[in-house]
This record gives sequence, structure tokens and C-alpha cells, in this order.
Amino acid sequence: MSRRDELAAGLAETEQRIRDACAAAGRSRDEITLVVVTKTHPASDVEILAELGVVDVGENRHPEAGDKADEVSAQLHWHFLGGLQTNKAGAVARYADVVHSVDRVKLVGSLSRGAEAAGRTVTCLVQVDFDATDPGRAGVVPDGIGDVADAIATAPGLELGGLMTVAPLGDDPASHFAHLARLSAELRQRHPAATIISAGMSGDFEAAIAAGATHLRIGRSVLGERPSSG
Ligand SMILES: *Cc1c(COP(=O)(O)O)cnc(C)c1O
Repeated sequence: MSRRDELAAGLAETEQRIRDACAAAGRSRDEITLVVVTKTHPASDVEILAELGVVDVGENRHPEAGDKADEVSAQLHWHFLGGLQTNKAGAVARYADVVHSVDRVKLVGSLSRGAEAAGRTVTCLVQVDFDATDPGRAGVVPDGIGDVADAIATAPGLELGGLMTVAPLGDDPASHFAHLARLSAELRQRHPAATIISAGMSGDFEAAIAAGATHLRIGRSVLGERPSSG
């Protein structure tokens, strides 16, 4: 099988799972954006995915993400999903259309300056963490969402898009996705345009669709296992 056939098959299978989950949840497929997570895979895979109709791709590391965005000629929406350091956030704002991983006010200034310098508008999501037992995990605790959201909403060059989470490992993801949906409803009382709910990966996206996710971040289900850990 050529790589193109492999990716086409992975995409078709994933698309069918998304459609089945939408049908089960009484939702329309149009409400959902599939972000294909291409981290650790070569730029040539991204080119093939673009030819197959993919428009949203996700990466989690700088500078790998920026190198690929430079190399790929197709017009795509680039989503940045990974941990950010303050000193690299500005560079990420030069190519990312959506940053899913904003989890502290300190990042907002760097992203804003980077976006402004590049003459771009970057959509930012607040990453929420529900695993209080592991302080090393990315994300703000629910009580911290408001401060980060307000900082994004008032920063030049940035737009507040909504919320993102990665379900804690080994837990039933459904309750966390439901919690994220409630927090999203709260956030929208203050920021009505912040409608994005980014939740669901290869192993748990059906539960995310059932809970109201608008953006799925799916890697392995489309591309197969990653060549190296990422
Ligand atoms: C890698 C990654 C994904 C995709 O995970 P898969 O299990 O390959 O679907 C989604 N979200 C984030 C934040 C990631 O780092």
C-alpha cells in the first residue's frame, strides 16, 4: 500500500467513526472540525493529507511545527497543541492560526507581540487541566480560566476562541468532557464568541463528540502509530 492509500484509508475510517458518533449524539457533522495531528510525521504526509481534503493540521513542538508550515505549500490552518515556553511563544504566533495550549497569563503577552509583529490574528484557547494530582501537567485549573481568558480577549493580535483539554490518562474521559462543556457555557456568558471546545483524541473522541466538542485533535487514528514518541 502506498502512503497515500494508507492515509486515505485512515482518514476514511476516522471520518466514519466521527459520523457514527455524531449520529449517536444527534449532532451534525458540520458542527465538528477535525484537526489531524501530524506531529513527528514528515511534511510529505501533510502534503498528501491536504490533497485528500484535510484543511486543519495540528503540531505540538516548536520549531518542528514552523519548519513544516514553511515546507508545506498547501494552504492549511495550523493548530499548535503543545507546551509553550514564554520565549518561543512569539515565534509560534508567526505561523499558528490557532494555539490550543495557552495556560498562563505570562504567555499571552509573548503571543500577542508575535502576532502583532507578523500582522496576524491568532485564535487562542485556554487549556484546562482536570488532574489535580499531577502538578506537572499542562493546563490551568478551572478556577484559573477567567484570568487567562480575559488576558487573551484584551490582547492585540489575539482572539479568544474557547477551551481545550486533554483527558487525564486512565480516567473515564466522559465526565471530564462534560465538565469542560459546562465551563465553556460559563465562559460564553462573558465571552459569547468563545465557542470552541477542543476535546477528544484517537482513543476518546466519541465521548468528546457526545459531550459537545467542536474540535477533535486526532493523530494515530488517521496516520498510524508515530515514528517516534511525541
Ligand atoms: C498528540 C496529541 C493529540 C493526538 O493524539 P492521538 O492519540 O494521536 O490521536 C491530541 N492532542 C494533543 C495535545 C496531542 O499532543
